[in-house]
Amino acid sequence: MRSMPPHFLFVDCKYFSAFFGTLGDEIIASNLGKNTSCGEDGGRGILDVVNIAFGMERKMSYREETKVIQIGDRKIGGGNPILIQSMTNTKTEDVQATVAQILSLERAGCEIIRCTVPTLEAAKALREIKKQIHIPLVADIHFDYQMAIAAMENGADKIRINPGNIGSVERVKAVVDVARERNIPIRVGVNSGSLEKALVEKYGGVTAEGIVESALDKVRLIEDLGYDNLVISIKSSDVLMCVKAHELLAGKTKYPLHVGITESGTVRSGNIKSALGLGMILSQGIGDTIRVSLTGDPVEEIYSAKLILRTLGLRTGGIEVVSCPTCGRTQIDLIGLAGKVEQMVADYPLDIKVAVMGCVVNGPGEAREADLGIAGGKGEGLLIRKGEILRKVPEGELLAALKEELDHWEA
Ligand code: SF4
Repeated sequence: MRSMPPHFLFVDCKYFSAFFGTLGDEIIASNLGKNTSCGEDGGRGILDVVNIAFGMERKMSYREETKVIQIGDRKIGGGNPILIQSMTNTKTEDVQATVAQILSLERAGCEIIRCTVPTLEAAKALREIKKQIHIPLVADIHFDYQMAIAAMENGADKIRINPGNIGSVERVKAVVDVARERNIPIRVGVNSGSLEKALVEKYGGVTAEGIVESALDKVRLIEDLGYDNLVISIKSSDVLMCVKAHELLAGKTKYPLHVGITESGTVRSGNIKSALGLGMILSQGIGDTIRVSLTGDPVEEIYSAKLILRTLGLRTGGIEVVSCPTCGRTQIDLIGLAGKVEQMVADYPLDIKVAVMGCVVNGPGEAREADLGIAGGKGEGLLIRKGEILRKVPEGELLAALKEELDHWEA
């Protein structure tokens, strides 16, 4: 077992204190003060603190040991930050619409974008799209190996293929040859829905074992062609099967994994399934890039992905909104206000907590814990900053008052 390099250590002091109280603070102070950094990204958490504090060596997580893969100007694997991906739902041939969507995804925090390339026209459009965006562009290929080659020739930073759908080994080789020439990574993608019949029969149905075997077969095929600039994705809409498949795969390969729950549904069910599935996978140290797949606006995928990473302590930055569930004491439209606040703060480049609380009984206490907060009263609310009541604000002006504070925020 290898111990963690100190500069990689991530500690969320709040959680630690919550779990261990004063003892936790003392442990942090005496053991870790010299080499912890609240907010350091990289996918470590409370277990690091516990392990080190009690003299235990920490086992490297899967994502720290994965092969580093360069995608455009970004690196994944080897402990690099987990990147958030999405996929456009415009016609890739429509450069203007596709660029507009990618730019709005970029603003939301998307770090890698994938576009489908079903036609030669779409492959050629990639060249124009790339000139106007600022994040790596991945070409999604189904069936036609010539589209994969055309996409790479037109500047794709990565291609996603399922070699099983591409056809003969010669065709896969033709794709791999161009990828090798240009040093373009290939994401080998396998979906439970397209699992080979032989594997379905071997395992008595679609299973995690079958998905993993299918993915590793494809990887081996490309490795045998002399190429290992690879990323793997295995997907299933069955959350528990997907989790099990990732656990199995992580024990059998060192390639970075792109993780997502496929066809997870509408915004509500997709968010829940993705949060559960990604949460279970990521918290085991597995996963180098993620996508929350939603039947909805792709921008929602980014906000959800950011929240999942942040909740797991795998990413910092952005405003966290906490709000109460409301009750009979609430005398303002807190539900409406909380929604508006969440929307308003989505793109603020601040790393703080904002509390939106419904009453002056419990509200001020919660709001005090946050950096900025409001506690509702009757037709008005208290505006609280770092525990200090600033002023009473009429209900209709609360949103504007919060915005005013955020616009002039100084830590
Ligand atoms: S903060 Fe106040 S209004 Fe909100 S749930 Fe708690 S008691 Fe009810």
